[in-house]
Amino acid sequence: MNSYVVQGATPQQEALVRSQIQIMQPSVLPLRVVFVPHWKFLDNTRIFQLHAPMGCTSALFTHLASRTVFIDADRYFDESLGYWLAHELGHLLTNSLKEQDAEKAAKEFRKRLKEAMKHDQP
Ligand SMILES: [Zn+2]
Repeated sequence: MNSYVVQGATPQQEALVRSQIQIMQPSVLPLRVVFVPHWKFLDNTRIFQLHAPMGCTSALFTHLASRTVFIDADRYFDESLGYWLAHELGHLLTNSLKEQDAEKAAKEFRKRLKEAMKHDQP
């Protein structure tokens, strides 16, 4: 139930993704989270073209049919990964390609991330 695969990631990247998703507790999980080098990311976005990356999610995109989240390993930042992931999880949760649907769902996830960060402070 709680299992999804993380591919192409360093152990640190995988740990980061898993901890962020655990905090956000989405009711719909991705099946795969794939880190790819920049050239391949561009290739994938071209091939899928279902959800063109844009705006704040330019380093991530989601292929809904396979519930796969792609992350541009050369362009994402650790500090903002959670924020961007929230948007992609929003697409999965709403099963919608619309940016406003994803953003609406992402709000709740970002709230959880913020809460968790507060509790981390000494
Ligand atoms: Zn989007």
